Amino acid sequence: MNRREFIKGTIFAVAAAAGLCPPAFGRSLALPKGECRDSAVRDNLPELLGINDIREADVFLDTGDLPVLASVVARLKRLRRTMGYGNFSLMGFDDAMSNAAAYSSIGAFTRNEVVFLERLFYEDASLYGFLGEKKLSGITDTIRLKRIVKIQGTGNCLYNGKPLATYEKIKADVGKDAVLTSGIRGIVKQMLLFLDKAVNHGGNLSLASRSLAPPGYSYHGVGDFDVGKIGFGVANFTERFTTTRVYSSLVDTGYVKLRYTRGNRLGVRFEPWHIKVVAS
Ligand SMILES: [Zn+2]
Repeated sequence: MNRREFIKGTIFAVAAAAGLCPPAFGRSLALPKGECRDSAVRDNLPELLGINDIREADVFLDTGDLPVLASVVARLKRLRRTMGYGNFSLMGFDDAMSNAAAYSSIGAFTRNEVVFLERLFYEDASLYGFLGEKKLSGITDTIRLKRIVKIQGTGNCLYNGKPLATYEKIKADVGKDAVLTSGIRGIVKQMLLFLDKAVNHGGNLSLASRSLAPPGYSYHGVGDFDVGKIGFGVANFTERFTTTRVYSSLVDTGYVKLRYTRGNRLGVRFEPWHIKVVAS
C-alpha cells in the first residue's frame, strides 16, 4: 500500500504542540534526591517523565481512522475478557478472528477493522518515529505453544531454553520476591497494548511508540521478559521500581542490561524492568 495514504494529513502535531510542552530536560524531577539507586536512573528520569508529551514531529492517524481505531480497541478488549488474559497473551491473529466470530460477546471483526489492522501491521513504523527491527514479520505469525512454559502464579509464559533458564537464574540470584511481570506476548496482545495507548492519546502513533513497541516489533514476541517485585503491582512498570531491592539486585547481578537506554535510537522509553534475552 501507499505509505502516504496511511498517514496523509496527519502530520499536524507541530502546531498543536508548539509552546504547550515544557522542554523535556527543563523540568524538575518528581522523585526526591537520593531515592534513585544510581546515576544512570537519575539521568534518565526526565526522559521517563516526558513519554506522554506531544512532541513537534509526532505523527497522528488520520482523523478519519479514529472511529475504527476505537472500535478495534473495544473489540480486542472484549476478546481478552471473553477468552481470558492468559489465552489472549498468546493468541495469533487468525485465532483472534475466529474466536471473535464465534462468540456473540465479542462479535466478528468488521472488514474495515481487519483492513485497518493489516495496514497498521505492515506499515513501516519508522514513519512515525519507531526505528526498531521487526521481530515477527507476518501478521498471522503465531507462538509455537510446544516451545513455551507457563510460569506458575504469574499468568505469564516464557519460551523454553534461554529465556526460562535466565528467569530461573534470576530467581536464584535475586531472591523469591523477584517475579515475572510480563512474558511472551503474541501479535494480538501487542496490538491491543499499542492501540490502546494510541486511542487514549488522540491517535498519536509516535507517542504510543515511545512507550510500547508496535505489533510485530516487540522483543516480548521472541524471548525477552519483564521482572518486578512481588506485590508491587503496576508500580513495577514505573520509575518507582528503581527504588526496590529487586531492581538494585538485578543491576548488581548484571541482569538489567537495558534493552532501551536513555535517548535510545529506537525512541522507546528506558525500561529498567526489561530483561534482555535475545541478542539484537
Ligand atoms: Zn519489556
